[in-house]
Amino acid sequence: MGEQSRINLLDLGLPAMEALAVQFGAKPFHGRNLLKWIHKHGVTDFDQMTDLAKSFREQLKTRTTINLPQIIYQQPSMDGTVKWIIELQDGQRIETVHIPENNRSTLCVSSQVGCALDCTFCSTAQQGFNRNLSAGEIIAQVWLATRELGKPPTNVVMMGMGEPLANFDAVVTAMNLMIEDHAYMIAKSRVTLSTSGIVPALYRLREVSPVSLAVSLHAPENRLRDQLVPINKKYPLEMLIPACKAFVGEEKKRKITWEYVMLDGVNDSVTHAKALIRLLEGIPSKINLIPFNPFPGTHYHPSPIERIDAFRQRLVRSGLITVTRKTRGDDIDAACGQLVGKVRDRSRRQLLRQTPPPVLMNPSA
Ligand code: SAH
Repeated sequence: MGEQSRINLLDLGLPAMEALAVQFGAKPFHGRNLLKWIHKHGVTDFDQMTDLAKSFREQLKTRTTINLPQIIYQQPSMDGTVKWIIELQDGQRIETVHIPENNRSTLCVSSQVGCALDCTFCSTAQQGFNRNLSAGEIIAQVWLATRELGKPPTNVVMMGMGEPLANFDAVVTAMNLMIEDHAYMIAKSRVTLSTSGIVPALYRLREVSPVSLAVSLHAPENRLRDQLVPINKKYPLEMLIPACKAFVGEEKKRKITWEYVMLDGVNDSVTHAKALIRLLEGIPSKINLIPFNPFPGTHYHPSPIERIDAFRQRLVRSGLITVTRKTRGDDIDAACGQLVGKVRDRSRRQLLRQTPPPVLMNPSA
């Protein structure tokens, strides 16, 4: 059977894995065990999966594959942040960032090659959109990070390249694997999807996944948000805000995290802060002020620290939980909005090592 027609086991969540086991003449719990081998134990060699029946393993060898992309570069930052450049089967490249901090470790995962949304202050937007990642390519970023770190990250944020809600099914399958007991077992409150606000998908998300939500707001009124986050023209604030309220619903512990990039002279005045306070009234919220990370060709400038502080204090005084996000990994272009996926010639970049080739199942078996 050709490599193309094989099922990539990384694309399958728990229900699909159980169904596959049944289809191959085994029991659902064998599918669960298979999932555990791959995601909990990091094992991709079927012969090591000793609690699976031999006949099941033979079927897996001939009809499936475990298609792992490769880390081709690893770039360490001065602050401990690491950026991995991952090459996919078709040669496309994506970026995954690991940010260690005290006893927390956060993995920033990509959902698409490039992005179609064209937010004016984001460098991923400048490279345009290439394609969606498969569920397997999304969860592979967690698989590879777990191998590199020796354990799963404690937190995952879907804040790498791409708009996760524009790649709904693959992202949901992958995120459900992150929180799955038989896979990575990351707390659902520590797996966060970040969106620029694809409203219909927001309503669907709540039905299929219990993960946390961050919304890239960046402006408290439509005219400005239209400019910064153009998808706002399609899903303006009067649609986005009710969708976010519905997402929180009656669940007491749920909060929306609002991301707000601080752009000098654009969205950082006291007037903006007041409008933001009015906009978020009554919504359980946490606000992340993000210092703008410049990139070549941008005409925006970061707000001065004092203005960010004044803005934050204004929000805090009104009772909103507000933090200024620390900029991490900016010396390796791994900070928010700096992920572009392609390998540019930078003298800072070191080729540290080549990771072993992906484990491909024997196609001729
Ligand atoms: N498309 C998704 C997730 C990716 S971006 C979204 O829009 O939420 C992750 C966060 O980084 C978003 O809040 C985004 O607005 C922010 N960001 C993008 N470019 C940035 C930049 N140059 N400086 C700081 N933050 C940026």
